[in-house]
Amino acid sequence: LPAARVESPQAEDIATLLPHVGAEADKYRRGVLAIAAGSTRYRGAGVLAVGGALRGGVGMVRYAGHQDAVDEVLHSWPEAVTSVLDPLDPVNGLPDRVSAWVIGPGRGLYPAATMELARVLGTGLPVLVDADAITLLASDPRMVRERAAPTLLTPHAGELTRLLPGTDRADVEARRLEHATRAAEEYGCTVLLKGSTTVIAEPGRPAVVNPTGTPLLATAGSGDVLAGLIGSLLAGGLAPREAAVCGAYLHGLAARLANDGAPVAASDLLSALPRAIREVRRR
Ligand code: AMP
Ligand code: MG
Repeated sequence: LPAARVESPQAEDIATLLPHVGAEADKYRRGVLAIAAGSTRYRGAGVLAVGGALRGGVGMVRYAGHQDAVDEVLHSWPEAVTSVLDPLDPVNGLPDRVSAWVIGPGRGLYPAATMELARVLGTGLPVLVDADAITLLASDPRMVRERAAPTLLTPHAGELTRLLPGTDRADVEARRLEHATRAAEEYGCTVLLKGSTTVIAEPGRPAVVNPTGTPLLATAGSGDVLAGLIGSLLAGGLAPREAAVCGAYLHGLAARLANDGAPVAASDLLSALPRAIREVRRR
């Protein structure tokens, strides 16, 4: 792609894009984010996604999951508003009156998860689809293509190969921008491709390369934090491309700030996010 078709944001661009919290703010106007992440097997994914969202500045997180995943979330984040889902009837307990959705991290590939994904994509709300939900979606791309509301997919290279059958990881790694752009065009939505260089593609807009990435992020759970963080910005009213750009920027910056020469765990990203936000706001 020609350079003119690619942008790279600076700290001041991020500061400008981040939702402004005025004196008239209330928690509903700041956005209510619903999160369907985590499962009995991956309870921590819900905790990390909820944390990313709360640190991202959302007004309220509504978390939905099975009883043990809900217990885990509340243990770490008592401010989360939770719904316990019945494993036999996974969609009736899903939260309504929300501004945006995050679905997929650690959620699993069960038939119930497919029903849940269809229900979430059936809302007229912005939806971030990550991880297992991307795998489920790949079997029926129309679920995204036929939506009127915005969708953001956040695959890593392996998940992107599922979205684009016939490609393999080596192809994606060799030409990340081209593959992200192709997926965005084929699915008619915004795509953030994670990995060594994070790129954000959307049909008809210049692609964005995130400048803050660091291999410190290559650690379990860091993608779950990113999903919640970007979700909070979607719920706050940012368009998917801008939410993805800001989220990726702050995520990388948080890893750099958390690092003092030693490795960083995904939970450390949560404690460093306030510093990352202060740092961009200082510009
Ligand atoms: P996930 O694959 O969902 O666990 O997400 C991993 C996170 O770490 C994403 O934000 C990736 O962009 C980031 N990441 C993974 N590997 C690297 C790398 N080598 N350099 C920079 N960021 C990375
Ligand atoms: Mg992941």
